[in-house]
Amino acid sequence: MKTKNYKMLFIWGTLLILFVGFSSMGWGWGNDEIRVRIYRGKKRVTLHSPTKIVISISNSGRKISISSEVRSSISYDNTDRGPLWQIQTNDGSLLRILGETLLISGESLRIGRKFVPSQLQLFPTSRGQFEVIGLVGLEDYLVGVLPSEMPGSWPIEALKAQVVATRSYTLATLKTQSESRYHLEDTIEDQVFRIYGPNELAPHFAKKMRNIVQSTKGLVLSDSGGDILRAYYHADCGGVTEEPDHVWSNGEFFGTTQDRGCPTSPHAQWKVELSKNELRKKIQSVFPDLLQVGSKATEIHDVSVRKRFLSGRVDQVEISWNDQSVRLSGQDFRQIVGFQKMKSANFKIEPRQNGFSIAGLGHGHGVGLCQWGSRYWARKGLSYEKILEHYYPQARLVQRSLLQRVAKAH
Ligand SMILES: [Zn+2]
Repeated sequence: MKTKNYKMLFIWGTLLILFVGFSSMGWGWGNDEIRVRIYRGKKRVTLHSPTKIVISISNSGRKISISSEVRSSISYDNTDRGPLWQIQTNDGSLLRILGETLLISGESLRIGRKFVPSQLQLFPTSRGQFEVIGLVGLEDYLVGVLPSEMPGSWPIEALKAQVVATRSYTLATLKTQSESRYHLEDTIEDQVFRIYGPNELAPHFAKKMRNIVQSTKGLVLSDSGGDILRAYYHADCGGVTEEPDHVWSNGEFFGTTQDRGCPTSPHAQWKVELSKNELRKKIQSVFPDLLQVGSKATEIHDVSVRKRFLSGRVDQVEISWNDQSVRLSGQDFRQIVGFQKMKSANFKIEPRQNGFSIAGLGHGHGVGLCQWGSRYWARKGLSYEKILEHYYPQARLVQRSLLQRVAKAH
C-alpha cells in the first residue's frame, strides 16, 4: 500500500466553481456522457478499487492519487469554513479536504458491493449529506439498462426495440435535464441501470447485450417536429396504450394503439382488497391534508370511478367521507394504494363489506412500448422496426446523425 502522506491536508479556495464550471472546464466527457444519480442522502460511502483511485477537487483543480488496492471510506461534514470531506484509507491515513465537489475516477470501482461507473462526482447536498453521480458513455449506459429493464433471454427483436426506446428516452431526457446535476435516476423513477462486474454476467450474455446495443447504434425515434421522442415504455399495457398527457398532464400526445400481445403477461389481471380503515390510513399517509386529519369520526363511505379516458384507464376517482367528497386522478389513487399493488390505472372498484375490491388490467403507466406485447410480437416474427411502429404510431425511426444534420440545416 503506497499512500502518499496527505494526512490533515487542507485545501482552500473559492467555493464558486459548481458543476457548471466543472462541465465547461473540459474534463474530457463528450456530449453523450450520461450523468446518473446512483446514491442520494448519503453521509458516508465505502469505495473499493483493485488498482488506484484519483480524487480531483473542484475548486482547486488539484488531484490526489491513492495507488494500489484501495478501500476508502468517504464521509462529509458541513463546517463554518465550508464543506469538509474526510477520506479514510485502509492504511489508517485520514485525508481532510475542504472543497465543494469531488471527482473520483478508478477502474472496477465499487461502493460497498455495488459496481459503479469509473467516474463519479460527489456533490454536497444538505445537512452533511451528499449524492453520488456516475458518468457513463451513452452506449455503455444502454448496455447497463437493457438487461435491467427487459430479460436478456427475450427475443432479439424485442430487445432491439427496447434499446431504441431507451436511447430515445435517454437523449430526450438529456436535453431537458442539461442544466441539472444529473440527468437520470438509476431506478424505476427513470430507467433501472447498473454496472455489471466482471463475474456478474456470463461472458456470452454480456456479449449478446453489447451486440444488441451495437446493432441499433445511433437509431432513435423522432417526433413530427424532428425532435427526439421521449419514448416512454412500460411492462404491460393491458390491451391498449395511453397518451403521456393522461398520466403526467405534460401536454404530450403520442397516439395510442390497441395491443393483442399482453394476455401472455403475468400482470394481465390483478386484484387488491382494501378495508375502509386501511384506505383511510393510506390516504392520511400519502395526502395528509385530504381528510380531516386526526378526526376519529372520519369514515370513508364510498370510492367510485367517475370518469375514464378513451383507453379505459381511470381519469377521476371520487372518495366520499362523512358529508364531504373529493375527486382525484386515477394516478393519485394508485399512489395512495401503492403503485406496486395497484399495477395500473385501468381498474374498476366494487364495494365489499367494510371495504373495496379493486380489479385491474396490465402493469405500468401504459405509455409507448409495451414490453410484454413486444415479446409477443417478436415471437410472431415482427422486426424491431415494426414493433416500434406499432407502439409509437406517430414517430419516425431515424439515424440520430441525420436528425442533427436536418436540425442544423434549419
Ligand atoms: Zn400491451
